[in-house]
Amino acid sequence: AVPLAFLAATGAGARAGVVIGGPRALERLGRVDTVVLDKTGTLTRGRMTLLAVAADEDADEVLRLAAAVEHASEHPIGRAVVRAARAPLPEVTAFRAVPGYGVRGQVEGREVAVVRCDDTAPLPAPLRAAVVQADEQGHTAVVVRVDGHPVAVLTVGDTVHDDAAEAIGRLRRGGLRPVMATGDRLAAAHAVAERVGITDVHAGIGPEDKAALVADLQSQGRSVAVVGDGVNDTIALARADLGVAVAGGTDAAIAAADVTLVRPGVTALADAIHLARRARTTIT
Ligand code: ADP
Ligand code: MG
Repeated sequence: AVPLAFLAATGAGARAGVVIGGPRALERLGRVDTVVLDKTGTLTRGRMTLLAVAADEDADEVLRLAAAVEHASEHPIGRAVVRAARAPLPEVTAFRAVPGYGVRGQVEGREVAVVRCDDTAPLPAPLRAAVVQADEQGHTAVVVRVDGHPVAVLTVGDTVHDDAAEAIGRLRRGGLRPVMATGDRLAAAHAVAERVGITDVHAGIGPEDKAALVADLQSQGRSVAVVGDGVNDTIALARADLGVAVAGGTDAAIAAADVTLVRPGVTALADAIHLARRARTTIT
């Protein structure tokens, strides 16, 4: 109904590195009061590095099997594992990715899985120690299982976007409530949350739970934007009043979102909201 304000805003949006889906998206973006942010790939760069391998047996061999399965994954953890392994990698069949949980497949006649560490209790002591250490350092630990047995813990680390703390501060000053939602372990989540200034942290939650968190906030009368990059974020992105896909996000996240950020970092989000609010005041 207000094409001029929309055109002006989309022009400004393009200059600011923000792609806004339509007038309705612009309107909703200007109205949100709560922002649920994914951790990996949204608050952090999503370029992970393999930092350590703790293994029962030969670490190189475990890494080779893990990388073979991760080769078919587009998750930052998968990319880090593949980069760290030596080529050529064996072939994988019956590959399956479970968003927010991990990957598995058949490699050289063995069932190999690289998955989230929900519970350290069943792990052998050295692997448990590796998870504890990763937690203490705010890194991400995942478990490698071969034929059902936990044989290794891989520790990966990511870098928080330089502008994240400043951008979260801007959101707060604008009266917005930032919330973190991540499938990672609580310790890794807290390490990032502390650095960017988020106190409301939901960790260890899968794609459905992220969407349930959004629904819960909505039932409290909140107007919620979800910001994410992954396949694991698509249900929450669709559920939100407004979905925002970050630069470098997966195609699935971009398809599920109403707004796409073209510039990496969190500032683009704060800019987008600022822009949408200004467009609203122009409209009224
Ligand atoms: P986030 O919500 O922080 O973006 P995800 O939901 O993508 O994280 O992943 C949640 C957790 O699931 C990760 O911390 C990891 O433990 C596990 N995971 C997801 N994908 C993979 C993968 N490809 N390889 C190993 N672990 C994975
Ligand atoms: Mg993510």
